[in-house]
Amino acid sequence: MSKVLVIGAGGVGSVAVHKMAMNPDIFSDITLASRRVAKCDAVAESVKARTGVTIATAQVDADNVEETAALIAKVQAKLVVNLALPYQDLAIMDACLKTGVHYMDTANYEPRDEAKFEYGWQWAYQDRFREAGLMALLGSGFDPGVTSVFASYIKKHLLDSIDTLDILDCNGGDHGQHFATNFNPEINIREVTAPSRHWANGEWVEGPALSHKQPFLFDQVGEKNMYLMYHEELESLAKFYPEIKRIRFWMTFGDAYLKHLEVLQNVGMTRIDPVMYEGREIIPLQFLKAVLPEPASLGVTTKGKTNIGDIATGMKDGKQKTVYVLNICDHEEAFAETGNQAVSYTTGVPAMIGAAMVLTGAWSGAGVFNIEQFDPDPFMDMLNKHGLPWQVKELDAPLDF
Ligand code: NDP
Repeated sequence: MSKVLVIGAGGVGSVAVHKMAMNPDIFSDITLASRRVAKCDAVAESVKARTGVTIATAQVDADNVEETAALIAKVQAKLVVNLALPYQDLAIMDACLKTGVHYMDTANYEPRDEAKFEYGWQWAYQDRFREAGLMALLGSGFDPGVTSVFASYIKKHLLDSIDTLDILDCNGGDHGQHFATNFNPEINIREVTAPSRHWANGEWVEGPALSHKQPFLFDQVGEKNMYLMYHEELESLAKFYPEIKRIRFWMTFGDAYLKHLEVLQNVGMTRIDPVMYEGREIIPLQFLKAVLPEPASLGVTTKGKTNIGDIATGMKDGKQKTVYVLNICDHEEAFAETGNQAVSYTTGVPAMIGAAMVLTGAWSGAGVFNIEQFDPDPFMDMLNKHGLPWQVKELDAPLDF
C-alpha cells in the first residue's frame, strides 16, 4: 500500500495524478489537495472518466505548515508530491519533517518578494531529512528533471567524461492566443526576465536577460530562435558534475511573445513590488496573471510539439564524441490522454516517475537529493513506457556556437 498526497491541482498536478491512477500497482491510494478543492474535484472527475480510478480530494493552504501536516497525517501518506508553486516548497518540506514522510517537487524554492531561485534554501534541509531517515527528491519535472537524468545517462552509458553540456528546450506548440504562458504565468515571467547565466570553467557568467539569440533546427519542429537563460538545474549539475567545463541552458521564444513581454516590462506590469491601486496594495505581476489565460485552458487549442534534450561533448574510448539525447512530445496527443497540453504533460509524467522511484525503493537514501545523484536507468525505462520516449543521436561535431 503506497499512499501518496499530491499538492497542487494545476496542469502539472492534473497530469501527475492521471498517470498515477494509470499505475495502481505503485500508487494504491491517491489524494489530490490544493488551495481550491473545486479544482481537485474537476481533476478527480476526469481521472475517474479516463481511468476508472477514484481519487480523494482535499482543500489545503500549503503555506500553512500545521494545516498541511494535519492533512498528511489524516491521509497517512508515505510521500508528498509538491506540485503547487515554488513559494510553498519550504513549508511543505517542514510539514513532511513534522509528520515523517518523504518529499518530492519539480521546482526549487523561490521567495515571493524576490525573483530569485537557488537550491541553497532546500539543500539547507539536508541534515534534518538525513537524521529523520527521510528522502527529499528535488526537481523531478522535465527541466529540471529529465534533462538532469539525460545528463546522468550520458555519463553512465555514452561518454567516459563530459566537457560541455547544452540543454535545449523548444516548445514548438501554437495555442492561437496573442500572449499566454505555458505554465504558471507568474513563475514563468519571473524566470524569463531574470539575467542569463551559464557555467564556464568553474564560474558563473552573467548577461542581460534574453540577449544571446541562437537559431537551431529542432527535429519535428523546424528552425527556432533559442535564447541563453539561467535555469535551476545548472546549479545542481555544476555541483554534482564538477568535471563539466561549460553548462548552458537554451529556451525558444517566438518574436510575438518577446514583443509582448518587452511591452509588459516597459509599462511595469511584470513588477513584483506592491503598488497602491484604489486604496489597496496590488502586485502588478499577480494582477497580470489574473488577466492572462490559465495555462490549463490552452490545451484544447494547442497544436505542435515540444522538443527538449541535452547535447554533450566529451571523450569516449579516447576519442571526442558529441551525443544528443532528446524527447519529442505532441501537444494534441498529450491533451487526448490527460486533458492537458504537452508542457504540463512533460512535467507531470516525470513527477509521477520520480514518485514511483521513491515509493518502489528504486531510489533510496536519507537526506536531500537532486535527481542526477541517482541511477538514471530505472527512470529512463519508465519514460519510455509512460509516454515520454527518448532517442539518442550522435552528432558529427560539437556545437559551433
Ligand atoms: P499552476 O499555477 O497551474 O498550478 C499550481 C497549483 O497550486 C494551483 O492549483 C494552485 O491553486 C495551487 N496552489 C498555489 N498556492 C497554493 C497553496 N498555498 N496551497 C495549496 N495549493 C496552492 O502551475 P503548474 O501546474 O503549471 O505548475 C506547477 C509546478 O510545476 C510549479 O511549481 C512550476 O514551477 C512547476 N513546473 C516545473 C517544470 C519542470 O519541468 N520542472 C515545468 C513546468 C512547471 P489555485 O488554482 O487555487 O491557484
